[in-house]
Amino acid sequence: MLTIALSKGRIFDETLPLLAAAGIVPSEDPESSRKLIIGTNQPDVRLIIVRASDVPTYVQHGAADLGIAGRDVLIEHGGAGLYQPLDLEIAKCRMMVAVRKGFDYEAAVRQGARLRIASKYPGIARDHFAKKGVHVDIIKLYGSMELAPLVGLADAIVDLVSTGNTLKANDLVAVEPIVDISSRLVVNMAALKLKHDIIRPLLDTFASSVAV
Ligand code: AMP
Repeated sequence: MLTIALSKGRIFDETLPLLAAAGIVPSEDPESSRKLIIGTNQPDVRLIIVRASDVPTYVQHGAADLGIAGRDVLIEHGGAGLYQPLDLEIAKCRMMVAVRKGFDYEAAVRQGARLRIASKYPGIARDHFAKKGVHVDIIKLYGSMELAPLVGLADAIVDLVSTGNTLKANDLVAVEPIVDISSRLVVNMAALKLKHDIIRPLLDTFASSVAV
């Protein structure tokens, strides 16, 4: 049995064509089904539906053989025990620093102000500001980060930006890029050895689908 960990939404949707190229078709749509284990047309391949930030944990511990996770999630997790053979170039976006329109971020940095930064990615945020030599207090949030600067919880946020529409709708502006993000295939190290005959061809198919 091969178990693949995926998160619902953009990653799942953009993974479907890759799975199809490998002849794998899920038997249910996780958006309409409440099932967390989804079978496929191949009796020995199943999908598990987990939170995006939990994908590396399932794969690291071998509860899933493979998974697909954003680079944001992988950097924050640390990647221990994971083989990351392939950038799938899906779910692309950018990790950015954003502030309320009118907040002079450059001046605040220049003046050495201590900034309050709200983020779902405390590790990435801490690392970014440490490299810049900016003193920060990190406020960990689990969602709706855009709200934090609007209600005085934070001076800036560190979040993913795709179209920029969410920032715009909340009167925020991106002021600094941190890292370009896309989703990667992650493989459990032990599974790669033990299930090499199934996993290797799958990796090759994914790699040639990405290259197209
Ligand atoms: P947008 O309005 O298109 O810039 O999207 C921004 C919102 O979608 C933010 O709340 C982000 O956290 C989220 N987001 C954008 N791209 C991704 C992605 N690739 N993976 C997960 N969340 C994303």
